[in-house]
Amino acid sequence: MKNVVSGLKPSGKLHIGNYLGVIKKAIELQNSNKYNCIYFIADYHSLTVDFKPQEKKVEIFEMIIDLLASGINPKKSIFFIQSHLNEHTALGWIFNNLLSVNRLSGMIEYKEKINEGHIPNVGLLDYPVLMAADILIYNADFVPVGEDQLQHLELTRDIARIFNNRFGLFFKEPKPILTSIPRVMSLNNPNKKMSKTLPSGCLYISDPKEEIFKKIKSAVTDSESQIEYNPQNRPAISNLILIYSEFSNIPPEKIVQEFKNKGYFEFKNSLAELVYSKLKIIHDKRKELLKNKKEIMKLLQNGASKAQKIAQNNLLKIKSKIGLI
Ligand code: AMP
Repeated sequence: MKNVVSGLKPSGKLHIGNYLGVIKKAIELQNSNKYNCIYFIADYHSLTVDFKPQEKKVEIFEMIIDLLASGINPKKSIFFIQSHLNEHTALGWIFNNLLSVNRLSGMIEYKEKINEGHIPNVGLLDYPVLMAADILIYNADFVPVGEDQLQHLELTRDIARIFNNRFGLFFKEPKPILTSIPRVMSLNNPNKKMSKTLPSGCLYISDPKEEIFKKIKSAVTDSESQIEYNPQNRPAISNLILIYSEFSNIPPEKIVQEFKNKGYFEFKNSLAELVYSKLKIIHDKRKELLKNKKEIMKLLQNGASKAQKIAQNNLLKIKSKIGLI
């Protein structure tokens, strides 16, 4: 069976960009029973921007709950917390020696973060190398990611190639799996992706009903009166149609037909109802899960030991290839 690997950073709450861009697909792959799915909370990655220890603890726990409530099933997938294993960081260190600082300082996300005012710490620069280690330590074939992570995955493939050329074939070159909405745009700015760094345009998975309705009703559209799916010229309404499409599994063209002679008000109301009905299932599951906190931490420990068996075994082979043992 092919290996699927994906991780999510616990810095802030999950939004529907994460859900529609990655999580929904990761769950579909898991439920197809055709892949070895390895999913983790990328807590080491979340340390690259300023944080408070007590808040970090809560963010990690909230993300575990959100992912389980969304459908990650520890009986079907290996599900764990990145920092519970030392193998990812050990391989990251090995990979550090295969790349130049210039290559990393030219990465789009690094430059964006610096422009946003984040401190250019070494972790922020080195982030994509640890990400490559996260993926390659399990010899992944596929990585479900949003469009913004494609450059990092390209770097992962380059690292695999550089390593294979220098030390002999070991790594596969993992391919991305994108959803049909790989870049969900912000609700208040259709030119920016929905992102935790712009919270006002984010619809969070855990948002209550009133918040979902408020955010969707106040989402920016345009001055036209007809609903039209035209991502080039009408990005705001097209983003909302795509969100509708992903939550309903109805193609955008059919949605446009359905709302042809109805206004934005009716469309947005219907979208809010739809999103709420889907997220409510997750909210209800969250409540159930919260009754069993201890059980959940046990599940994650169990996941970590399963992941560690694979990671340890691969790391031994890698160390042997480079002459460390
Ligand atoms: P982040 O929260 O930035 O660590 O992202 C976690 C995952 O969600 C990554 O695979 C991203 O590519 C994906 N993602 C984040 N924002 C979006 C978005 N607006 N649309 C689609 N995917 C996204």
